[in-house]
Amino acid sequence: MLNVVIFGAPGSGKGTQSDLIVEKYGLVHLSTGDILRAEIAKGSEVGKIADGLISKGQFVPDDVIITVLDNAIDQHPTAKGFIFDGFPRTVVQAEALDSLLKKRNIRVSIMLNIDVHQAELVKRLLNRGKTSGRSDDNLATIQERINVYEQKTLPVIQFYDKQGKHVRIKGTGTMEEVFTSICEAIDHIK
Ligand code: AMP
Repeated sequence: MLNVVIFGAPGSGKGTQSDLIVEKYGLVHLSTGDILRAEIAKGSEVGKIADGLISKGQFVPDDVIITVLDNAIDQHPTAKGFIFDGFPRTVVQAEALDSLLKKRNIRVSIMLNIDVHQAELVKRLLNRGKTSGRSDDNLATIQERINVYEQKTLPVIQFYDKQGKHVRIKGTGTMEEVFTSICEAIDHIK
């Protein structure tokens, strides 16, 4: 079973590349950001917790998002594999993902770290904000999201590095170029 963690700062292209990976490898795409936005639209309890935090660029608490992901995995009992997008965002979440998968006798196969420099991230997110309708694609929140990423999410790289699963992908260049690097990494999993 192929289970991919797609990792990178906000605006690094995780969503776009996930769509391409899903198409080629037939995986189930679990984006915690998408799930939370759907919960907000439904007006659920989780949605109420997430709403204010997302618009400020802050994280939803680990225990909440871990339960959300656990339930999301359960909804796909026949999946050939998963692509985890936007999760894990903290080391606590990375540890939780290992145990959530272990209890199902599966594991993370590879962590793809899409690397894009900061000026490019801000440019892409401001551009996306013109049409995305997302409460967090504005300059103040973008800067906060990048700060939170650097403080809380960067240590996740080391977590997967220690497991020998971290692969850095150059995230600048065309969508096709980035996807080619991703396929090379996936096709070379030992
Ligand atoms: P995304 O669509 O991945 O950029 O996520 C949008 C927002 O949802 C993030 O800025 C967080 O506020 C929240 N969120 C998504 N995934 C997580 C997560 N794994 N942990 C905490 N908060 C999350």
